Amino acid sequence: MIDLHFSSIQGENIVHSKYTIKPYNHFMYIQPAKNFITKKINPLEDIDTLIMDILDTAQVISSCKKYMQFLSKISENTFVFEKHFWRYPDFFENKNHPEAITITNALLVFVEKYGLPEWELERDTKAILPPEYCINSSSKSEYAASNDYLKTFLTDKIAQQEKIAFPVCSLTLFFLDFYNIFTINRTSKLKRVEHCRLFFRNEPGKEPELTAAATGLKPSIILAFITFTTGHHKAVHICKHCGKHFITTDARSEYCSPKCRASYNTAQSRKRQKRQGKETF
Ligand SMILES: [Zn+2]
Repeated sequence: MIDLHFSSIQGENIVHSKYTIKPYNHFMYIQPAKNFITKKINPLEDIDTLIMDILDTAQVISSCKKYMQFLSKISENTFVFEKHFWRYPDFFENKNHPEAITITNALLVFVEKYGLPEWELERDTKAILPPEYCINSSSKSEYAASNDYLKTFLTDKIAQQEKIAFPVCSLTLFFLDFYNIFTINRTSKLKRVEHCRLFFRNEPGKEPELTAAATGLKPSIILAFITFTTGHHKAVHICKHCGKHFITTDARSEYCSPKCRASYNTAQSRKRQKRQGKETF
């Protein structure tokens, strides 16, 4: 097992006091509201809370069935690439759709706490869909014929480069991708750690010292997860009784709390008694 101990880690991101949802070329963007105040934060102050906040936001998104079906429709071999959104009308353009409201509200809560990640010009945000949404749909061909949408996508990306704005649809992929990494990692590829610096000091008579600093939200989250798994040896599990996510250092841990363990066991023994009761008749 890898054992990587940083004597300290530091993350950095800019948070604006208020964010809003605004359209640009038929796509909805999340961006700082007018007359905002900015402040610099360290997203790694409380790593467990950061991980849970990402999981909670991702869970809100993945529990929106209509939206997940929409992602399934635009996916390619279980992957959703952000450029594919530009091939279809934006799901979030209909601001009154109940699921659009649920998702944007959850994103705003997260972003007002941690800020936005950088919309990477050279990279296509992508995520793997949960297995239940990985279907081979044949209805994709209607828009697939032309590649014109790619031009609009790249033009929009360049136009937005100077602004602090992130498309709502792409931001959902940001969370779904981290959700996969934090729970069951279905990506076998190594993740690149960017905008992260390591500092090392080795002095006679002292323990060698390794520290790390990340700039931006995405690098901070990756650094958080490196420390979480390899330094603190923690993992995210799903409770066998209530289905909630919880953080544990015990690889065999199945319940989020002693209460859930007791409830699960009581339910099991009741089931057993019922079965035995039936057998005697
Ligand atoms: Zn539980």
